[in-house]
Amino acid sequence: MTEDLSAADRDRLADQLQALAQQLREALTQSDASASPVELDQARVGRVSRGDALQQQAMAQAGQRVLQQRLHAVHGALQRLQQGHYGYCIDCDEPIALARLQRQPEAARCIACQSARE
Ligand SMILES: [Zn+2]
Repeated sequence: MTEDLSAADRDRLADQLQALAQQLREALTQSDASASPVELDQARVGRVSRGDALQQQAMAQAGQRVLQQRLHAVHGALQRLQQGHYGYCIDCDEPIALARLQRQPEAARCIACQSARE
C-alpha cells in the first residue's frame, strides 16, 4: 500500500513541475527556429544539401512533438495539483509512489496502470 504524499513532498513536486514547464517552454521556443521551413539560400547550398536540411528539419519536428507531449503532461499534473487530485493515479485512484513522482513529477498513472497501457 502506497502512502499519500505529505504536504512538503507535494510542494517540492509542485516546484519541480513549474520549473519543468518553464524549461520545456524554453526548449520549444528554441527548437521552433530549427523546425521552421527549410531555406535554400545560396550560402547553405553546396555543403548542406536540401536532403540533409530536410532531414534535420524532420528531426527537429519530432523532437518538438516529444517536448509538446511532455509539456501537455506537465500542464495536466499542475491542473491536478490545483484540483487536489495530484499524486493519485487517474485510472485506479491509488496514490502514486513518491519515488516515481520524484523521477517523473508529471506521472498521471501508477506503475501498474502505466505498464498495463504499454
Ligand atoms: Zn493505477
